[in-house]
Amino acid sequence: MDFMYSSTRDSKAKATASMAILKGLADDGGLFIPERIPALDVSLAKLAQMTYQETAYAVMKLFLTDFTEQELKSCIQAAYDSKFDTAQITPLVNAGCAYFLELFHGPTIAFKDMALSILPHLMITAARKNKVSNDIVILTATSGDTGKAALAGFADVEGTKIVVFYPKNGVSPIQEKQMVTQKGANTHVVAIHGNFDQAQAGVKQIFADKELEKTLQEHGFQLSSANSINIGRLVPQIVYYVYAYARLLASHTIAEGEPVNVAVPTGNFGNILAAYYAKQMGLPIRKLICASNENKVLYDFFQSGQYDRMRKFVLTSSPSMDILVSSNLERLIYRIAGNDAEKNAAYMKALAEDGKYEITHQMKQELADFYGNYTTEQETAQVIRDVYEKDGYVIDTHTAVAKGVYDKYRSETKDDTVTIIASTASPFKFTRSVMHALDPECASTADFELVDELSRIAGVKVPQAIEEIRSAKVLHHTECTAEEMPDVVKRFLGIGDAMENLSQI
Ligand SMILES: *Cc1c(COP(=O)(O)O)cnc(C)c1O
Repeated sequence: MDFMYSSTRDSKAKATASMAILKGLADDGGLFIPERIPALDVSLAKLAQMTYQETAYAVMKLFLTDFTEQELKSCIQAAYDSKFDTAQITPLVNAGCAYFLELFHGPTIAFKDMALSILPHLMITAARKNKVSNDIVILTATSGDTGKAALAGFADVEGTKIVVFYPKNGVSPIQEKQMVTQKGANTHVVAIHGNFDQAQAGVKQIFADKELEKTLQEHGFQLSSANSINIGRLVPQIVYYVYAYARLLASHTIAEGEPVNVAVPTGNFGNILAAYYAKQMGLPIRKLICASNENKVLYDFFQSGQYDRMRKFVLTSSPSMDILVSSNLERLIYRIAGNDAEKNAAYMKALAEDGKYEITHQMKQELADFYGNYTTEQETAQVIRDVYEKDGYVIDTHTAVAKGVYDKYRSETKDDTVTIIASTASPFKFTRSVMHALDPECASTADFELVDELSRIAGVKVPQAIEEIRSAKVLHHTECTAEEMPDVVKRFLGIGDAMENLSQI
């Protein structure tokens, strides 16, 4: 029988891998979770000889068991190709007493590309397998990185359309320019008059609208999500931890079976959960170092066993980690509750209703694999300066949070295990904050001049993703209020008389 997934909130809600990818979220609001974590079935020595694509197949086939070999391999080939600017896909760079795993060599220069360049192919294959003939309409609310990576991934993918909503004044100028210049006849980008939470709530409301669902169905459409809780985003993220370990082995940095630590700048808990799954599969990982910025909900959770989202939201220089509800943590809670959907559902209910929950002492014991800490804004900037001054290597703000937390871990524990730091964005994506850390005097310089300055200082060519938007034409002009979002979606799909009441399309 096919490997089955079940919901973290109802063990009876089951799905195949392809159904789980198509649906994204279980009907009860829970996340799909594999019934067991499969063990790696090739040796580490063998992995050390594999390409990224071969490693991807060796890992993903264990989770996506209802995909045929040919289906999965063709998804992998279509995703990890010359869209990445290096054949290694995720190179490892030795600096500052650690190994930076550069996850930003894809089309939008942030690590979201690792999963979003394959998700569209997995989704189309899953639709075919499940005899879905509707076009899949992806709806996404974004605070910056996910939107552009999803647009790039789904652009011109046959059988799909994508609509991205972003808060008009809530993303960086480079992030906005990246989105509104997106090509592809099936892509739509909309600025919301409101903040990210309103955009997100609007999307959730559209998903819950049964009448709209029926109308879409009649016109041959169905909705899906490219959100990071989709198992089709989580599984591809396990691959690069296995690949990084294999590269360290191939270069004789470590011996076969020697453990490594992994440090991850964390927001929604997706990337570090993938590392945790890699460990469960048998990859020799000692500590999972969970790094937060000043929104340190996870640090407090690892300290006290209490998850408490009722606090002030802080805007930081690592905006992709500015988050108070880490959705993917639910998968860890489910596991340490003894794979008990009922217990997990009770915690999630408490989180929704009271804003917090506290795990048992026994569950807390099971978190020994993790170390949590955070850096302040000042510390983050200092880390960027230090790494640059000591090694001439420029890291982005998110990566700097992970490096800062790793330094704290190392000085507390004296653990000198070889450590991999997930480097989640190119410094060019956050040019202004990075340059400000290196040279506080540069505040009045224009964005693209700063890009050139960063290129000079770092000795790194300006990435294609940034060059492209210097002169690119703005192709998306739509703006609307949160209430108008369903009408905007209908209009894009050519349905009904949705046009009349819209403010400024
Ligand atoms: C999304 C993102 C993160 C956080 O990753 P999670 O999987 O949400 O924990 C960190 N850094 C960057 C640059 C990101 O875009």
